[in-house]
Amino acid sequence: MGDSTALAGGPQGHERLAELIPLVLQGIATGAAERAAPGPAGGPAPVAASVAALEPLVPARGVGAEQALSELSTLLAAGSVDPADPWCAAHLHTPPLAVGVAADVAAGALNPSMDSWDQAPVASELERAFLATIARLCYPDEAGPDAVVTTGGTESNLLGLLLAREQNPAVRPVCGRNAHHSVARAAWLLGLPVPLVVEGERMDPYALDTVLAETGPAVVVATAGTTDTGDIDPLRDLARICHRHAARLHVDASYGGLALCSTKLRPLLDGIDGADSIALDLHKFGWQSVAAGLFATKKAVDLKALTVSAEYLNAEDDTEAGLPDLLGRSIRTSRRPDAFRMAVTMRALGIEGMGELVERCCATAREVADAIRGYPTLELWGEPALSTVLFRPRFGDAAHVRRRLLEAGTAIIGRATMPPGEVWLKLTLLHPHATAADYLGLLDATVAAVHAPEGAVAS
Ligand SMILES: *Cc1c(COP(=O)(O)O)cnc(C)c1O
Repeated sequence: MGDSTALAGGPQGHERLAELIPLVLQGIATGAAERAAPGPAGGPAPVAASVAALEPLVPARGVGAEQALSELSTLLAAGSVDPADPWCAAHLHTPPLAVGVAADVAAGALNPSMDSWDQAPVASELERAFLATIARLCYPDEAGPDAVVTTGGTESNLLGLLLAREQNPAVRPVCGRNAHHSVARAAWLLGLPVPLVVEGERMDPYALDTVLAETGPAVVVATAGTTDTGDIDPLRDLARICHRHAARLHVDASYGGLALCSTKLRPLLDGIDGADSIALDLHKFGWQSVAAGLFATKKAVDLKALTVSAEYLNAEDDTEAGLPDLLGRSIRTSRRPDAFRMAVTMRALGIEGMGELVERCCATAREVADAIRGYPTLELWGEPALSTVLFRPRFGDAAHVRRRLLEAGTAIIGRATMPPGEVWLKLTLLHPHATAADYLGLLDATVAAVHAPEGAVAS
């Protein structure tokens, strides 16, 4: 048995990793072969049993690194849904690119923590340079934009509302009916009033104008790529109206933001640079493992609201002596160098390469929508705005169909409740190499599942 206490870093760390990583890779392969489907068959019970069989999971005397890694990597792969299978398309749950996952080995081994320069000298400099690129992508014509790394749209939306509240404590959040639930949650966390909701499938600028005319100071949250349908609010018009009412604008582009990398798709986000702040998630389009969130601000100075001092991390004399003060770059303290794998990935692909992957997913969604139109037994919600396709069986229960396919491990598809309160099936297409042809069998399986009995996971 090898040394379970060997370090990942240091002069020999890479040698030990070279012994252990192949066991992980072998485990992934073995587990995936056992599963032989996009997801585990049988619903929650057999998955829970596979973990219960290991009891005690944490024994008094350890089993050793080799066995623990082999066993649990195999178990993880066997009981996971794999977003790298095109039929795993329920959520904005991305299949990560191998390049980013490989980069994370270096980040994990060296473990830079982004809360002070003396823990992350070059990682912090790489993060700064990467974030400057992201800030320019969002605000090409601004003099001093900035960006920070977050854990995702939820934290980015919290920051969007937080910066607004720091400018005006009396600010009232306003969002569209399709805004992400994290917006209302952020308001709750920050002690702000419950957001006012502007009606409309997309946020209606006239309705917003009326709401803002009757409200005091406001922060408007618009969405560029809603979670249910991928719809994009009319950003330029909304920005104009916010400007007229001196309201702050935060755009939640967690889903759609990376369309900025594509010259073809960029017009979809026309006017986004009118926002005071923007949320983007590279663990959606961007093909990073969770978490890879970004938050950009039009004015770097706005982020000063996050400034905090802690003697041991950013003492004033250290900062005066030239050590960069990193603590105010996040609401977290210890923080993973998530920008490293994002930077490696975007350097590998380039902005255009990233944009092409986004384009492919959006093109596939349009083709799948066309294919659905050809099925007499299926109904299409509408033309996809990005890479989300909503449809349902014309006769039969969509929620039942979804659970039936999930339970069998055949396919993982999502659901959305759309006005007037009916359940639709959702394909969120983030697989950059899948084509429409890959989904025809899934449409057939959907039709067939209408009549299949529901088993273990019946509601
Ligand atoms: C995914 C998503 C979020 C939440 O982001 P997390 O990364 O899961 O925290 C917020 N808003 C929208 C529009 C999203 O698509």
